[in-house]
Amino acid sequence: MIVLVPLLDDCGDLVCHYAERGGGASGGPYRSLNLGFSTADDHAAVLENRRRVAHALGAPLARWIVAGQVHGADCLRGSPALAGVGAAAVAPPGLQADAVFLPEPGVFALGLSADCPLVVLADPRRRFAGIAHAGWRGTARGVLQVLLAEILGAGAAPEDLRAGISPGICGSCYQVGEEVFAACAALPGFARARRGDRLDLRALQLAILEAAGIPSARIRVSDRCSACDGDRFFSHRRDRGVTGRNGALVGFRD
Ligand SMILES: [Zn+2]
Repeated sequence: MIVLVPLLDDCGDLVCHYAERGGGASGGPYRSLNLGFSTADDHAAVLENRRRVAHALGAPLARWIVAGQVHGADCLRGSPALAGVGAAAVAPPGLQADAVFLPEPGVFALGLSADCPLVVLADPRRRFAGIAHAGWRGTARGVLQVLLAEILGAGAAPEDLRAGISPGICGSCYQVGEEVFAACAALPGFARARRGDRLDLRALQLAILEAAGIPSARIRVSDRCSACDGDRFFSHRRDRGVTGRNGALVGFRD
């Protein structure tokens, strides 16, 4: 059985689900629901895993947009013309971005991660959705602010947004160097996100979302840690780089 956890409340016709690692077709370090082609896992197994998620959520693979993630802050504007790469091993050139904004229903964006939190946003009234892959580099570079600017620029109001922050590496496990603290020091919430030589990425991201005007009551933050819980999550740090990818899929069904 695959496990799909909603990242937002009251989803309705919104897909906003995070896939844990059980119930898939992959073996070895990729056991078992590895959704990332950017690993040495068997291509057919990853494709089968994506099919299982697509089927369970009623979100056909031909409507998936999967951008190549590069720890940057670019946001892609998703459209039906960009869909269909869910079955492709590599995102086409030009389809590299760590955030995807979906201004219309009927397409879905997949974010991939092993430790990095995935942040989903939705405006149920306007049926806007978005997702950001937000490790420390993307967070420091402003990937959340860039995605928010796209959504607000399209006409959403901050008070109408819902936000969800996925499982990811926790503030006890995430030991980082001074270069990480230096890069994040100017961000909202930095003082409470830093704990000695550890960084609580999700605390930082929560503060960024709140600073943008999203009501705290509309923001859900997972307390699950990818590095602490090997049964549910892949972890780049725990598994020393040889691991699969959890994923979150977002988008309104049409
Ligand atoms: Zn942890």
